[in-house]
Amino acid sequence: GYEAFPEPLWAEIDLCALRHNFSAVRSHVGKGVRIMAVVKADAYGHGAVAVAHELLRQGADAFGVARLDEAVELRENGITQPVLIFGPTPPQKAPLLARYGIIQTVHSDTYAEALQAALLAQQPRRRVQVHIKVDTGMGRLGYIATGNGGDVPLGQVFAGFSSRTMLDVCGVFTHFAASDAADPVTARRQLAVFEQALSELPAGMRDRLCVHAANSAATMVMPGARFDMVRPGIILYGLRPSAEMDTAGFDLRPVMSLKGRIASVKRVPAGFTVSYGHTHVTAAGTVIAAVPAGYADGYSRLLSSCGTMLVHGRPAAVTGRVCMDQTMIDVGHIDGVQEGDEVVLLGRQGAESVTADDHARLTSTINYEVVSRILARVPRVYV
Ligand code: PLP
Repeated sequence: GYEAFPEPLWAEIDLCALRHNFSAVRSHVGKGVRIMAVVKADAYGHGAVAVAHELLRQGADAFGVARLDEAVELRENGITQPVLIFGPTPPQKAPLLARYGIIQTVHSDTYAEALQAALLAQQPRRRVQVHIKVDTGMGRLGYIATGNGGDVPLGQVFAGFSSRTMLDVCGVFTHFAASDAADPVTARRQLAVFEQALSELPAGMRDRLCVHAANSAATMVMPGARFDMVRPGIILYGLRPSAEMDTAGFDLRPVMSLKGRIASVKRVPAGFTVSYGHTHVTAAGTVIAAVPAGYADGYSRLLSSCGTMLVHGRPAAVTGRVCMDQTMIDVGHIDGVQEGDEVVLLGRQGAESVTADDHARLTSTINYEVVSRILARVPRVYV
């Protein structure tokens, strides 16, 4: 009935599952390795502030985000631990990095010079901590390592920072492109390239830096990639980094469920047309339910006529096109469905479940996108 929860659609965030996944990572890497929980993109759609606070209570050491606004949101909500921004903060906003004590990734000399100039122009002058990004084979941001075709040894890159007085280099890191492959050969190559780059640093310098490389997949299967800190994201949310990976022995529990209340239930005759384009016409008399979830909530339109939702613990097929705010399902085979009944779009109901991997397969994407596209208008409910 309607009484249980007063929203048409909500994302339920299971903090117990989050704690479980974090402690699986902690027991895997041990106490000697710091854990930077990756909470960019609103913690992959799970709500960055709530997730960060919960993970702090579990012993997270630092947080990783993509953008300045994400870092500021954590600071404004009481997170005082180290926060690293992976992406490029526009140099004109560099004073905010100083004001909030946020660590910035530096990926090139051009960017470093722009940050230095912006900080010098500011009164009072305050330095910013930076981590240097090394491109060992991701081909995205970072100084190209010598082992990856670059021609500047890392020691020389670092030497360039001695004149950038406003930047305090306190870390160095890289990112793997394919640590989630069934056999992570290219990640092992990237690791060797990274180690070679570290060996190009002057004696003693490496020990003063926070060195890190491992995303979730590498955290799980590449002990040699842990260095001083690991940067898991997806496994904290209970999802596998990829379908090829063998995650046996790593008990992950999905943290997000997407649930709603059936808005309308109609008994309809054969030949009844459903949704935009009339792509669905009932073959026989049945019962059609409208669910208040659509592509503007992050329920992909690619699930039109192929998604499944759960009602009374049973699967119900999406009929016709997913609309912006509504989607219809056929519940003719399920007894007694009523307006206000709970419907599960993602997650478990009774013995059945619909997973982010199921949605990913049907919409030609990865589970990362499935959870992070659940948009802001869907309230997060922490249980
Ligand atoms: N580190 C960096 C630099 C990232 O961009 C990401 C996310 O893509 C992560 C770590 C976490 O990756 P994952 O969610 O696969 O653990």
